[in-house]
Amino acid sequence: MMILDYDLSHAHEDYLEAIYLLSEDSVDEGVKSVDIAHQLNVSKASVNKALNVLKEAGYVEQEHYGKITLTPEGIEYGKEVLDRHRLLRSFLIHQLGVDPEVANDEACEMEHAISKDTVDKWIAYLRRCSDCEKNREFLAKIQEAPENN
Ligand SMILES: [Zn+2]
Repeated sequence: MMILDYDLSHAHEDYLEAIYLLSEDSVDEGVKSVDIAHQLNVSKASVNKALNVLKEAGYVEQEHYGKITLTPEGIEYGKEVLDRHRLLRSFLIHQLGVDPEVANDEACEMEHAISKDTVDKWIAYLRRCSDCEKNREFLAKIQEAPENN
């Protein structure tokens, strides 16, 4: 496992996520900053500012005002954020019945707060979710638990 020790802000994680998403279609060609601006609904100036941070951190490469590509570390980080987003969004929509637009916005907030370790444990939990007895026990415990626990 690669250690991602550069702790990016929420906004910068969203940039990496967007670049990863955009480059899913055009892996070799790279991404244009105008496409990132469009995707995140921000100005080109904001994109360029964020790109400088991401370049400095070693996640992004860009020829002088040219196409933007992710480094292997950037690919790993961006994919991780996007995977979390997709898991959260689909859980909110399909398991909880949350409105898709609300689910998308809230997934974009939650994806930055949840750790990889918790996500891994959550996925493992979902995989054994067929064990309904455990779920019933869990639900009973929540109801018994004191309010501020
Ligand atoms: Zn987000």
